[in-house]
Amino acid sequence: MTVEPRTSIVWEYAPAPEATDHLRLAERYGLFIGGAFCEPAEARYVPTINPATEEPIAEIAWAGPRDVERAIEVARAAQPRWAALPDRERGKYLFRIARLIQERARELAVVETLDGGKPLRESRDVDIPLAAAHFFHYAGWADKLRYGVVARKVEPLGVVGQIVPWNFPLLMAAWKLAPGLACGNTAILKPAETTPLTALLLAEICQEAELPDGVVSILPGDGTVGATLVRAPGLDKIAFTGSTAVGRDIQTALAGRGMELTLELGGKSANIVFEDAAIDQAVEGIVNGIFFNQGHVCCAGSRLLIQESVLDEVIAKLWARMGRLRIGDPLDKNTDVGAINSAEQLERIETLVAAGEDEGAVRRSVACSLPERGYWFAPTLFTDVSPAHRIAVEEIFGPVVSVLSFRTQAEAIEKANNSRYGLAAGIWTDKGAKAFEVASALRAGVVWQNTYNHFDPTAAFGGYKESGFGREGGPAGLRPYLRVVR
Ligand code: NDP
Repeated sequence: MTVEPRTSIVWEYAPAPEATDHLRLAERYGLFIGGAFCEPAEARYVPTINPATEEPIAEIAWAGPRDVERAIEVARAAQPRWAALPDRERGKYLFRIARLIQERARELAVVETLDGGKPLRESRDVDIPLAAAHFFHYAGWADKLRYGVVARKVEPLGVVGQIVPWNFPLLMAAWKLAPGLACGNTAILKPAETTPLTALLLAEICQEAELPDGVVSILPGDGTVGATLVRAPGLDKIAFTGSTAVGRDIQTALAGRGMELTLELGGKSANIVFEDAAIDQAVEGIVNGIFFNQGHVCCAGSRLLIQESVLDEVIAKLWARMGRLRIGDPLDKNTDVGAINSAEQLERIETLVAAGEDEGAVRRSVACSLPERGYWFAPTLFTDVSPAHRIAVEEIFGPVVSVLSFRTQAEAIEKANNSRYGLAAGIWTDKGAKAFEVASALRAGVVWQNTYNHFDPTAAFGGYKESGFGREGGPAGLRPYLRVVR
């Protein structure tokens, strides 16, 4: 039976761009050292670009070796006083920072979207509220550290170097700074080259919160600044989130130096759909798992494992759902998939997608008109993928999902674990017992059941194998910033 359409109205969305006239961005930002913005020792300013338009947003000072040295000196000098504050007082500063993030949430969300290309809906509803939540959470821990590492006396490590990537710029800064400061450490943060702006606004927030000078320093720049920081004397710990290759380089550089290290690296996480799952709900979870933040997510569900009996149904529904994703202006509140973060990242995605086609997988990319300027990649689905294909093995870090199938639970577990990574996984099933059984057999730091990319400051996050070590979030996130005394 064919059903006649009852109306000829085309249900198109009207544009809903977020305003930018409320922003208070400066034309130029210096380095943030000793509680003040300052000129770099060797004047070097580089524009940060909006990846959706390729327009420059502001000029950013890049730190050099002398700035790194000065930031470490200042942080060392500030650390004993910071650690000696009554625990509750340290907590109060973190509460203030959290509240100021909330007060400036709209501005921070817009800047995050302008600088990084992610949809405003995500920076507004996920990145910024979660960044505030991390400061709130660890503010509460500042005077309860003895419960964080049960029955042991603990002390701060000292001065910590923290290097963060471009996919969740403010949120990653919060993941690192909040527990580090709560424990009594002082910190030097190196934001990513392509997304320094919200870290610099966070520096302003530290000033507004009257955080004692030198407790937080922010040193923008490229990878060489990170490499200099890692190799500089005077630090007690490095906390790094980024690629496995750089993580390996850092581990090598720290070998034999008696410094603490935590690494949160890449992933090729399996999102497993069993035949007894609520399929429509699973399709939403698959979309959220891989197209959230254009797939620039370390725990993205980029390997989709579907039970053979429902393979065709899931693929058909997923493909139909992908056709309804809205791709384009990240500042538009209706946009689901924004811009790729940089030309370099776009090239990496294109290379791996071309490798997928060359190796014989079947590619489907959503037909959509992409803006002429900026960096874009249409949401893409690969079927007929073999476990040895590069697109099933390597982290693409883009809006690309590779589908593999399985017949039995044992095969699903084996395929999911067949990765050098072990960051996260998703399980879609109606059976609670099955979910627990599969979750306990997976070598992944985080396993979601009937949901995906669900983050909470109270829950630990981190990987196995080449996804790194150490945990961030919750009480487990305190441990890497504390030394057990006895
Ligand atoms: P990187 O690992 O290079 O960048 C992460 C951070 O480390 C950035 O602040 C970067 O600075 C800095 N950095 C770069 N080189 C060094 C070094 N030798 N020593 C110390 N710090 C350094 O990631 P990329 O931006 O190059 O992305 C490459 C790939 O990494 C992506 O395609 C993705 O697969 C993966 N990735 C994974 C992330 C995750 O969350 N697990 C996050 C980001 C990337 P700068 O920005 O200037 O390069």
